[in-house]
Amino acid sequence: MKYNYLMIRFGELSTKGKNKKNFISQLYKNIKHALKEFSTLEFEERYDHIYIKLNDNHYEKVVEILQDISGIKAISLVYRLESDIEKIKEASLELVKQEEGKTFKVNCKRADKSFPIISDDIVRMVAPVILKNTSLKVDVHHPDINLSIEVRNEGTYIFCHTFEGAGGYPLGVGGKAMMMLSGGIDSPVACYLLMKRGVMIECIHFASPPYTQMGVIYKLEDLLKILNKYQARIVLHIIPFTRLQEEIYKHAPESYAITIMRRMMYRLADRLAKQRNCLAIANGESVGQVASQTLASMKTINEVTNMPVIRPLATYDKLEIIKISERIKTYEISIRPYEDCCTIFDPKNPKTHPKLDDVERYENRFDYESMIKEALSNEEVKAINNEDIEF
Ligand code: ATP
Ligand code: MG
Repeated sequence: MKYNYLMIRFGELSTKGKNKKNFISQLYKNIKHALKEFSTLEFEERYDHIYIKLNDNHYEKVVEILQDISGIKAISLVYRLESDIEKIKEASLELVKQEEGKTFKVNCKRADKSFPIISDDIVRMVAPVILKNTSLKVDVHHPDINLSIEVRNEGTYIFCHTFEGAGGYPLGVGGKAMMMLSGGIDSPVACYLLMKRGVMIECIHFASPPYTQMGVIYKLEDLLKILNKYQARIVLHIIPFTRLQEEIYKHAPESYAITIMRRMMYRLADRLAKQRNCLAIANGESVGQVASQTLASMKTINEVTNMPVIRPLATYDKLEIIKISERIKTYEISIRPYEDCCTIFDPKNPKTHPKLDDVERYENRFDYESMIKEALSNEEVKAINNEDIEF
């Protein structure tokens, strides 16, 4: 007997009362998009769950994809049948026989109160059938096989296997953030973690031609195509940054260049975020990773914006970040060699405790404000789509 459906349970969104319907329809769209390559799956949106009819597709691959979709609490591999006690008994026995183990337990939930048998009685009717026809014993505490029966309006579900989901919120319900995307390992992982919390991203990249090549842009496009799995359309703003960088090096000591450069990046991200209705700036910074990411540096850099700055990787070790990037398949692209604007202007002794007074004094030596305006007006905008599915 083959399991014929997947039952998808929702995570934290069940606490969202009136908004629940929006959450579910957003999640439903996201799920359909992520699984579009499986053309024979059938999707069903209901009030408490989303169901996927497997139609002979292997469930493993589908479950693996579902496990990355935010807003899903758990996925059960289920057998759906008509709510008829004789059929329930028969199917329960068949399904249990397919499992390995010596002990079992039957759980039952009756969501459809019009079904005439209460859940305790269903358990009392099913368990003896299993005891009589198999060598399995009952163990209510640590059963090898945990058989669940759920009687619902549209039918009854029987299952033994439940897989954990990513949790979080469906993408699109949490507003939008302006993500600083560098092409390194960290920022794509930060994108992914933010999207898992339901936040959509729009990306800003600071390019320094001719020091940086077009290769960086292709790399960013490839990274975003991978992230399109979670967000179907991602807008990328490419900001010319060369002029500002050159001015910084002309007017500030080398040890302060990175601090000031990052303040310029934050200023640009702040303006663009506000223009594009983003509620936050986000980036791939991790506390202590480099000189510009000590808490002292972060504070001095952060002074230029009043927007929340989300740093999903703030407490992650590089190894943990790499592990995620390998899992979501951005790693191979991120490690492609390229010249980043930061690697070209790489001072030997960057400040780990840059003083705000000093920073401001150096910045006031040149008219960065007009250069920021100029950079923004010369931006190049691209939309990276996996394909033409409307979201
Ligand atoms: P990554 O952090 O993505 O691996 P990186 O380590 O080279 O790249 P850092 O110097 O650690 O980058 O910069 C920290 C963060 O600042 C990046 O994660 C990214 O969010 C942002 N950032 C750095 N350089 C750029 C850039 N050229 N364009 C946009 N954002 C950038
Ligand atoms: Mg980094």
